[in-house]
Amino acid sequence: MGIYWECQRCTACCQWPGEVKVTEEEICQMAAWLSLSEREFIERYTRLRQDRRGLALVEQEGGACVFLQGRDCLVQPFKPRQCQEFPNGWRASPELMRQCQARPVWRAGTREECSGEERGA
Ligand code: SF4
Ligand code: SF4
Repeated sequence: MGIYWECQRCTACCQWPGEVKVTEEEICQMAAWLSLSEREFIERYTRLRQDRRGLALVEQEGGACVFLQGRDCLVQPFKPRQCQEFPNGWRASPELMRQCQARPVWRAGTREECSGEERGA
């Protein structure tokens, strides 16, 4: 048993500065969802990560994720794994975690892992 944090979709993490990493598979899924070619998706919505080891989603002016519209995620059914998992397994900043509205629930088999400090949802 362990604590699993259940997202309440408050969008705080979508507005938090940081990178949302995207894999080739995630790009393929999100591009299809938006009826774009992968090339169009990459050109419009991604940039090189700071460590130059892959791509991340671009941000809106002000720092929010490019796919945040009001309180909705425009790629919700296919949002990146990082967004699906947050805040579980993340060591996010205390400031972000004070804003995060996720609720703790007990689940069998939940493991505590840490992937670093980045944005997710
Ligand atoms: S992809 Fe969606 S869930 Fe992930 S940060 Fe952007 S708006 Fe939030
Ligand atoms: S993970 Fe937390 S901060 Fe992000 S949308 Fe869900 S409840 Fe809000």
